[in-house]
Amino acid sequence: MFKRVPGTRDILPGETECWQNIENISRSLFTRHNYREIRTPLLEDEPLFNRSLGETAEIVQKQMFLIKREHDVYALRPEGTASIVRAYIENNLDKQQGFVKLYYMGPMFRAERPQKGRLRQFHHIGCEAIGSYGPGIDAEVIVLADSLLKALGISGYRIALNSLGCVSDQQAFRVFLKDKLSGRLNDLCADCKDRFGRNILRVLDCKNDSCRHIIRELNISGSSRCAECESHFSSVRRSLDALGVSYEISPNLVRGLDYYNRTVFEFKHDGLGPQQDALGAGGRYDGLVKQLGGPDAGAIGFAFGVERLILASGLKAETEMVQPGLVYVITLGDRARAAGVKLLADLRGAGVTADTDYEGKSLKAAMRTANDLKARFVAILGDDELKEGVVALKDMSNSSQEKVRISELTDKIKGSSK
Ligand code: AMP
Repeated sequence: MFKRVPGTRDILPGETECWQNIENISRSLFTRHNYREIRTPLLEDEPLFNRSLGETAEIVQKQMFLIKREHDVYALRPEGTASIVRAYIENNLDKQQGFVKLYYMGPMFRAERPQKGRLRQFHHIGCEAIGSYGPGIDAEVIVLADSLLKALGISGYRIALNSLGCVSDQQAFRVFLKDKLSGRLNDLCADCKDRFGRNILRVLDCKNDSCRHIIRELNISGSSRCAECESHFSSVRRSLDALGVSYEISPNLVRGLDYYNRTVFEFKHDGLGPQQDALGAGGRYDGLVKQLGGPDAGAIGFAFGVERLILASGLKAETEMVQPGLVYVITLGDRARAAGVKLLADLRGAGVTADTDYEGKSLKAAMRTANDLKARFVAILGDDELKEGVVALKDMSNSSQEKVRISELTDKIKGSSK
């Protein structure tokens, strides 16, 4: 018997309704903020991610699923931003609109050690606003992420906020960290010793308890930002304050990817456990569009992990398989069966959810199926009904039954579901 690949999941009927609910709420919210959906391929050329996320990023070094075919190496996308920026440039979206707001949802792939809330195929819901450097869009994106969690009924999370500053601020921060950490090098984990030489900012992302302790002791403040980046950050904070969105300033928050600059944020939820407490995260990536061959364009986005949204929301991942308004058609005898096929097609054509028994079951057995399916109505059609041009319509909510003319059935059902 075949089993699913470790770290992947089957999302079954009963659970898919919960996913659809999250997707529908997200779509509606993004649309109200004038974001439009983009769908990019799951496969991209591997170098797209190496160049965007950075050669030393954990995702690039350890977690990419690569597919080699002849001379090409493709990657299953580990995240959405790089693909969307590639699509923005390749499809000249900058020339059409200048400033674009895009949202996306779909599977991402990372070869991580599978555990609760950490999968190898997981799903992102996210957005990207490309074409503005102004702090107004930073605040809007953070507020949008906050509204999304609220709309999904999630509470008990906190927003960690930081500004990484510009390229030269980050360089100054690296020098500061090198100076502070050089005396503690022997106390860092093996990965962080390596990070110290290759990309010291990544030490701040380390999940190892002793490294976290050392970092806490450094008492990092945001003092290495230039005046322009400081003013950008104050403006973002003022907008959030004005909108009543609470956040914590987290000078240690650097995010694990090379493309981030200035505003970065994470939505954390303690119910998810210390190793994967992030519901979602995002930030600015002002240099990426240009770096991938496009124009100068400021940009910012975020992504939530759908599996973690479900864990945190306490939304029942498995909802009962209720088919609102399902009409179950039961036919008795061959002539009625033929008429039933037409009735079924007419109901469906009129927008009513309808189904039938395909096995020629007895009335009793078919009624049991209708019950199992939680049908709202059962329409019974036998030879007598056929002669009269009616169906026996049973309302399953109160077990009442009446004869309804076939020609009036759709209106009757639609009328009673109003
Ligand atoms: P990241 O791109 O790493 O910032 O991820 C954004 C969000 O995606 C995280 O906050 C998680 O909610 C989710 N996520 C990332 N990696 C995984 C994973 N391996 N399994 C499940 N969810 C994930």
